[in-house]
Amino acid sequence: MATLEEKAQQQPAAAVPRVVVVGIGFAGLATVSRLRRSGMQVTLVDRNIYSTFQPLLYQVATGGLTPSDVAYPLRGFAHRYRARFTHGEVTAIDYAARTVILANGDALDYDYLVVATGVSAAYYGVPGADKHSQGLYTRRDAVALRDQILAGLERLSGDSRGSEWAVTVVGGGATGVELAGTLAELRNIALPTAYPSIDRTRMHIRLLEMAPSLLAPFHPALREYAHRQLLAREVDVRLNATIREVTADHVVLANGENVPSDITVWAAGVGAPEPLGSWGLPQGRGGRILVRPDLRVVDHDRVFAVGDIAMIEDQPLPQLAQPALQTGRHAADQITRLAAGQPTTRFEYHDKGIMATIGRHSAIVQLPHGLRVRGFPAWISWLGLHLVTLLGSRNRISTLINLSYRYLSWGRGGALIVDSDPPPG
Ligand SMILES: Cc1cc2nc3c(=O)[nH]c(=O)nc-3n(C[C@H](O)[C@H](O)[C@H](O)COP(=O)(O)OP(=O)(O)OC[C@H]3O[C@@H](n4cnc5c(N)ncnc54)[C@H](O)[C@@H]3O)c2cc1C
Repeated sequence: MATLEEKAQQQPAAAVPRVVVVGIGFAGLATVSRLRRSGMQVTLVDRNIYSTFQPLLYQVATGGLTPSDVAYPLRGFAHRYRARFTHGEVTAIDYAARTVILANGDALDYDYLVVATGVSAAYYGVPGADKHSQGLYTRRDAVALRDQILAGLERLSGDSRGSEWAVTVVGGGATGVELAGTLAELRNIALPTAYPSIDRTRMHIRLLEMAPSLLAPFHPALREYAHRQLLAREVDVRLNATIREVTADHVVLANGENVPSDITVWAAGVGAPEPLGSWGLPQGRGGRILVRPDLRVVDHDRVFAVGDIAMIEDQPLPQLAQPALQTGRHAADQITRLAAGQPTTRFEYHDKGIMATIGRHSAIVQLPHGLRVRGFPAWISWLGLHLVTLLGSRNRISTLINLSYRYLSWGRGGALIVDSDPPPG
């Protein structure tokens, strides 16, 4: 029997199924690479010309990596995977006409559509949170935060009145813990060399978490370890801290306490980006798109949703890289099956474990079947896994060099500083 690729070559171009993948993060990349040999006409659309490796954004924000270390160029990727790349923001979808509409008015026709647009910050209606806090979802966010941190340190070093300066990280998930831990190391280890005029006790790092513990998905023993590691780095960790308001220079807690905050980073939760509401797809908790067990969107036979933005009805998966990669691949396989006239199959998630790092030589890893690792071995695994999963040899080499330099020479104070005007995103 002829393969789809062979069939595609025998057919006129119009008969080749057209697949449009909107959003090229972990999930979109996985879908496209899996469709490489499908013989279909695959088009990638992203509002950026690169894919962002979000797990290392906090390293960009603290000057450990350059913005280009975490960006993977999409034109080269598309070429390698025999796909087309369209740079643009999707603003609407016409399901009847099977057309995706871009912000510039261009339209892309599809036979199968994969929505992989990821999520953005959720502020849960906290007044001032969107205006006065900084998110950490894009390269631009990371660069903006890095510039604010460096500008704050410069101000502090030129201030002879001994004023204090505080960074508040809201949200005790992996992102919040990783950022707070690294900021504390920046203050404790790098500051004395880079800014000898700043008494480090003038810089405060706070981590606020609404729940009674940090890192909810981890085993209590690992949560405790991470908590202790942050305290050892003199991070002011506040649990059961519900936020009532964020202002330009304070965070107001539900108990009425005013916590001074020169920079507030919002890492407290994610939700569907606002424009998604107008796309007319069924949405569940957190605005995630509801999909059936085969990952097709409820009531849409030719539309799949994958990655962070998708939620299988009654079986929500964590919003992490592994579910994104696995759902991306599964959607690609289902498209191939549908195009071949075969029935679709259920998505089964294979849990490969979770990890978080607190700082140099300190991380936690939780594997399936109850296996837990912490400390230096966990940190080395964290480092290795991130280098392996980063895309692009150039990124791997530059990240290896920059992170090695960071962790071997923290005491010499260096932070990478580059032009703060990367492409949009
Ligand atoms: C700071 C941070 C740290 C993290 N650390 C970890 C970690 O250590 N381990 C882990 O497993 N997970 C981590 N995650 C989560 C992980 O990064 C996500 O689960 C994963 O990126 C989800 O992949 P995705 O493909 O669904 O979405 P994304 O990676 O967010 O990609 C979405 C893509 O869609 C594009 N897009 C969005 N809207 C449009 C539109 N309208 N038109 C065109 N393009 C659009 C975006 O530009 C983007 O390229 C972290 C996340 C963050 C923010």
